[in-house]
Amino acid sequence: MEFEQIKEKDTAHIAHTYNRFAVALESGEGATLVDTAGKRYVDFTSGIGVNIFGVNDRAWKDAVVAQLGKVQHTCNLYYTEPQTRLAELLCEKSGAERVFFGNSGAEANECAIKAARKYSFDKYGADRYEIVVLEDGFHGRTLATLAATGQPEFHKYFGPFPEGFVCAKPTFEDVTAKIGKKTCAIMMELIQGESGVHVLDENFVRRITEYCNMRDILVIIDEVQSGNGRTGRMYSYQGYGITPDIATTAKGLGGGLPIGACMLFQKTKDVFSFGDHGSTFGGNPVVCAGAANIVGRLTDELFLEVQAKGEYLKTFLSKMNGVEEVTGKGLMIGLKLHPGVSVRAVAERCLQKGLMVLTAHDRIRLLPPLNITKAEMDEGLNILSEVLAE
Ligand SMILES: *Cc1c(COP(=O)(O)O)cnc(C)c1O
Repeated sequence: MEFEQIKEKDTAHIAHTYNRFAVALESGEGATLVDTAGKRYVDFTSGIGVNIFGVNDRAWKDAVVAQLGKVQHTCNLYYTEPQTRLAELLCEKSGAERVFFGNSGAEANECAIKAARKYSFDKYGADRYEIVVLEDGFHGRTLATLAATGQPEFHKYFGPFPEGFVCAKPTFEDVTAKIGKKTCAIMMELIQGESGVHVLDENFVRRITEYCNMRDILVIIDEVQSGNGRTGRMYSYQGYGITPDIATTAKGLGGGLPIGACMLFQKTKDVFSFGDHGSTFGGNPVVCAGAANIVGRLTDELFLEVQAKGEYLKTFLSKMNGVEEVTGKGLMIGLKLHPGVSVRAVAERCLQKGLMVLTAHDRIRLLPPLNITKAEMDEGLNILSEVLAE
């Protein structure tokens, strides 16, 4: 189908929730994508941090196809090997004890919220259910995860929301002021992705974790975007020297297929009993076979490479005309541009010139595949610098 035809049908029949760019992508290889007209693009997005090893990744594809040829789904009343293999790998690499599988980041966070409340209910009774969340955080689009999202623009139209979320600034003073007798957990992204790649202060994160640990207030870390090697660590909390009580992840975990995981650590590993939570599709064997392949390849060697690539990009980005600030870790990078420059216009112009970038709030956000090549990085940097010079 030609682009104009796709666009027309899309506009007619798909809910208008996305302000799409005028491109229909069709195929690709690694960090290079091709649209329906045959035009090439360098990909600095990975489909919002999902395609960790780019498109058409051979090893992942082989793992997925091999499982497709066996059984594509069984309900969760039976055991499957891919699910257990993935869970074991995740526990090894995260320090968690057990995993619950869902299908998305929001679902992983819903599970985390339920787990935290259940932990507290079992130990302290019904009145200790509040979760402190941070300003500029993002935790998903379901009603509970929206309530947990500290960005008021997401709260228009959809109330009432589930209660029990208290929003604080990311400072020790404000979070401790918001913690009270009803608090069961704090939930945060250590690198806030959707609001513009804001890296939380290490000292704050360590102090607040210690403060919560002492009061048996659970620490939930949302690694939906920052996880799975993205920041040059398996999970970003490993770069902060803390161990959470619950961590969630999704985006990059499936290498392009939908999956979410809620990881339960020492304190919370036995919080759920039969019937407490569930998902029809969660832990699907095809998705898990692919994810196990991905996670198996997230090695210390790769993390060093991700750190080096991140530094390489940052060095060039920070010297670019029009760039005021570069934030982020590894291959999760935010760019603050000079005031008055529209990030949407920059993203559109980049696309015209063959580079895909993301925006996040008032910033440009870059989430390239972890296996992006130097040639692809250079091509992308050139386009971005040309666009910013215009
Ligand atoms: C994307 C994202 C989510 C939501 O994930 P979905 O898969 O879209 O439900 C939650 N938390 C963070 C930090 C995210 O970046």
